[in-house]
Amino acid sequence: MIDYQEILDAIYVKLQKRVDKGKVASYIPELANVPKEKFGIYLNRIKGENFCVGDWDKPFSIQSISKVLSFAMAFARLKNQVFRRLDVEPSGNPFNHLSLLEMENGIPRNPFINSGAIVIADMLVTLLEEPKEEFLQFVRDVTGDQTIQYNIKVAANEAETGFRNYAAANLLKSFDNLENDVERVLDFYFHQCSIEMNCKQLSDAFYLFANRGKCMRGNSQLTLNQVKRINAIMLTCGFYDEAGEFAFEVGLPGKSGVGGGIVALLPNEFTITCWSPGLNEKGNSYLGMLALEEFTTQTNLSIF
Ligand code: GLU
Repeated sequence: MIDYQEILDAIYVKLQKRVDKGKVASYIPELANVPKEKFGIYLNRIKGENFCVGDWDKPFSIQSISKVLSFAMAFARLKNQVFRRLDVEPSGNPFNHLSLLEMENGIPRNPFINSGAIVIADMLVTLLEEPKEEFLQFVRDVTGDQTIQYNIKVAANEAETGFRNYAAANLLKSFDNLENDVERVLDFYFHQCSIEMNCKQLSDAFYLFANRGKCMRGNSQLTLNQVKRINAIMLTCGFYDEAGEFAFEVGLPGKSGVGGGIVALLPNEFTITCWSPGLNEKGNSYLGMLALEEFTTQTNLSIF
């Protein structure tokens, strides 16, 4: 029998002692001002008890992790049509890279780099009557938690500093791969990035990807085949240009964000979320990566 609480406690104590905790994202004050000492983990087991440690109940900015949820919403509704406008290959480049998009004629490499997420945002803006409200409701429903909110200040600051996102959206538009106005699509995109959740809520939201499309409460409308594909894209594209390293060290599909969150999962077994705002050079949570590596090593639980 694995003693999950003992393992999480030991990982927490060991990593919290580290002097080097990475660098907190500095491009907007709401992220720059988060104390580096924050560190939490929440393990949601599909067929068992859940475990947590540290700041697991403190909300943080989910940022790029939202790209999995917006993609899931578009994929559930539009099915394979989504792949007419984007690909599913890892980019090997930073999340906001632009030259690849130019070279590949405005078809983003995958839905988890910014240009791909902007194309998905465009699809949802076309599809939904009240895009921001309906997307937030989707996130609340899959999580089973009606308290989840956008952080309006973060969304506004993202818009003020989002020059590369404007560049990507305009490039997409020039290639005819953006149906709606740049401003409207980016307003949606900046809001999705601004969603705040804690480790428990993120583990609950991603439960459906570990549980064959069934949420904590209710159904996601994703088929088992779609869930398989989303997990595959998380494994190959979920960690900026460090997806290979994450697969190598941790061995789980997952997604990270510049707010310092990482959510990862083992199908039929668990979802796990770590949050520590200090990032490594590639933009992934420094302690989060180490914590997950220790967790899969000590429990021998990974997809490989
Ligand atoms: N809002 C950020 C951006 O689009 C997302 C950063 C991230 O978590 O990768 O620049």
